[in-house]
Amino acid sequence: MSSYVFLGAPGAGKGTMAEMLCARVGQAHISTGDLLRAEMKSGTELGLKAKAYVEKGTLVPDEVVAAMVSAKLGQSDVRSRGFVLDGYPRTVRQAELLDAALKELNLKLDAVILFEVGEELILRRLTSRWLCKACGAIFNVLYLPPKKEGVCDKCAGALYQRADDSLETAKKRLVVYEQETSPLIDLYDKKGLLLRVTGAEEKNANFAVLSRTLGL
Ligand code: AMP
Repeated sequence: MSSYVFLGAPGAGKGTMAEMLCARVGQAHISTGDLLRAEMKSGTELGLKAKAYVEKGTLVPDEVVAAMVSAKLGQSDVRSRGFVLDGYPRTVRQAELLDAALKELNLKLDAVILFEVGEELILRRLTSRWLCKACGAIFNVLYLPPKKEGVCDKCAGALYQRADDSLETAKKRLVVYEQETSPLIDLYDKKGLLLRVTGAEEKNANFAVLSRTLGL
C-alpha cells in the first residue's frame, strides 16, 4: 500500500483530501493537528504542553510531535495499510526525524504531495471553516456548507470553529508556514519525491486531480 506526506499551507485542503484518499484506498490517516487537538481535549500532559503553541498559531516543538508520529507509524496496521501524513513534517528538523523513524521501522514514502493554493483563498477558507466536534468532518460555510446550519451531515454532531482559524492567528500560521515549512518543498523536490497538485478548486475537482496524479 502506498504512503504519502501531504504538504501545503494551512487551509490548502490537506485534511479533506487525506480523508477522501484514505476512505477510498484504506491508508491510515495520521494528522498531527488532529492528534494534538485530541490530546488537548483530553487534558493530557502533552495536550497541556501543546495548547499554548496551537492557540498562538506557532509550532509545537519538533521532538514532541516526532515522538507522537513515531508511535503511530509503529502500529502494526500501518505497515499493511500504508499511511498519509497530514501536516507532518513541518520543519526541516521534523523531516530529518521522519527519515530516521522510517528507516528504523523499515517503511518508506512513495511521494510527497504539495497542495498549491493562493494566500487570499486560504485566508477566506480558514476563517469560514467549521468542524464536527464528534467525528472531525470538515465543512466550509462558503464553499462546502453543511445541509443544516451548525450540524454535521455525516453524524449529526455539533459543528464548531477552531480558535486558531481566527483571521489574526490564520495570518500568523501562514507566516510560520513560509518560514518553517516551505523549505521542505525544495528538500523533497531534490529527493525526487515531490508531486504538485492544485488545492484551489472545489473538493471533488481537487480530488480528481490528486487521484490522476497518484495513478488511481
Ligand atoms: P493543523 O490542524 O495541521 O492546521 O495544525 C494545527 C496546529 O497544531 C498548528 O498550527 C501547530 O500549532 C500544531 N501542529 C500540527 N502539526 C504540527 C507539526 N508537524 N509540528 C508542530 N506543530 C504542529
